[in-house]
Amino acid sequence: MTVLANKALFLDRDGVINEDHGYIYKPEQFYFIEGIFDLCKQYQDQDYLIIIVTNQSGIARGFYSEEEFLHASQWMREQFQKNGVNITHIYHCPHHPEITGSCRCRKPSAGMLLDAQKEYDIDMKNSLMIGDKERDIEAAIGAGVEDTILFVHEQNPQTKAKRVICRYSELLC
Ligand SMILES: [Mg+2]
Ligand SMILES: [Zn+2]
Repeated sequence: MTVLANKALFLDRDGVINEDHGYIYKPEQFYFIEGIFDLCKQYQDQDYLIIIVTNQSGIARGFYSEEEFLHASQWMREQFQKNGVNITHIYHCPHHPEITGSCRCRKPSAGMLLDAQKEYDIDMKNSLMIGDKERDIEAAIGAGVEDTILFVHEQNPQTKAKRVICRYSELLC
């Protein structure tokens, strides 16, 4: 029997799941972006794994600890669960090149997506990535994800993304 590879919806966190107002590490700082739960539910219902890939240089900078990040992540998972969405995995890069040296995980490097590919047997060509920064798009392209979506607030951004959206309702069927 052939085992079919999985497909995934890759998401950046800050600016994609929650409003990015800088170094968010406490539940009370989370403001979920309108439509994010419905969007994830739609993809989950189509058998996509929901995987978050997030740069968290605030850890390297000493703004918050790994434990605080993980605690916030657990709380965030529970909010998704209340909305019927199971997050498969949250990958994070705790580094910053000027503090901890270069690493393979910080986007625009593809490390986190490649780790997910290996761990969950993901067919990258059938997967998609939503990011709000060009480094999210570059990381996805570097990992072989072809359907890249830039979530923006500005008009006509310079981007390598395949699609540009400004609200999640554009992706709902
Ligand atoms: Mg972001
Ligand atoms: Zn890293």
